[in-house]
Amino acid sequence: MPYKLMDISPWRGFPITSVFGKAALNFRLGRLLFFLREYFFPFGCALCGVPLIGINEAWYGLCKECHSGLEIEAQEYCEICSKPLISEHGSCLACRNGEGRPCDKIKAFFPYYGKYRRLLAAYKFGKNMALGNFFAGKILAIIASLNQGQETIIVPVPPRPGKIKEKGWDQVEYLTKLLGKEGKSVPGGIKICRCLKRLCSGAQKKLDRSGRIENLKNRIVPNRAYLRDALPKCVILIDDVITTGATLDVCASVLKSRGVEKVYGLCLFYD
Ligand SMILES: [Zn+2]
Ligand SMILES: [Zn+2]
Repeated sequence: MPYKLMDISPWRGFPITSVFGKAALNFRLGRLLFFLREYFFPFGCALCGVPLIGINEAWYGLCKECHSGLEIEAQEYCEICSKPLISEHGSCLACRNGEGRPCDKIKAFFPYYGKYRRLLAAYKFGKNMALGNFFAGKILAIIASLNQGQETIIVPVPPRPGKIKEKGWDQVEYLTKLLGKEGKSVPGGIKICRCLKRLCSGAQKKLDRSGRIENLKNRIVPNRAYLRDALPKCVILIDDVITTGATLDVCASVLKSRGVEKVYGLCLFYD
């Protein structure tokens, strides 16, 4: 019997004494819903499958061991695209060769192999929504450490047309929604700006960087609904995986052609 009341320690003391204000209440209710979901329809840990115990594990979709095992050891990363450097210093070869790329800086959290790859598969294809909380937490922490109390504008990389209809959801859009909702917890707050739209284009997978850029040319366009307002001066693009950086760069150049001055990219994985 995996679920014992005595294991629910983060929940002790709820509700009246520890709830201050609406934000705290929503935060706790959100966690409670994931806890109840895990209780009635157990997903288990996304990586090792053990039953999840307690509210925090259910909220992140990961057991405590797997959660802490995802931390990456410090090493030197490219200061532009954040891929790990092996024999280079400062920036990687690809970034040095692609000088003046439209996306000013890119931060990616995890490599795209092994357990990290399984993590994305569980989220993207297994629709394990709890992992969205884990990813959103990573992004919120980095925004809070960098935005100096200013409002942060997030632009999601748009999904290909028809994807949401076909698959029922888009993993980047769901993450964006979470960031919008949880953004109140970050000083300065977060505003979501869906100012980009993607038109139909050929498959990207087998193309190299320049092929991808060519393939996306005029296929990522400003979203008309947003054109009435001036775009902000600085935005953060959000995507799940960065491979060659072509998609982020095409998005960034569209934004810059519309007057945005600084475009940063935040991705969950680098491939
Ligand atoms: Zn686990
Ligand atoms: Zn780089």
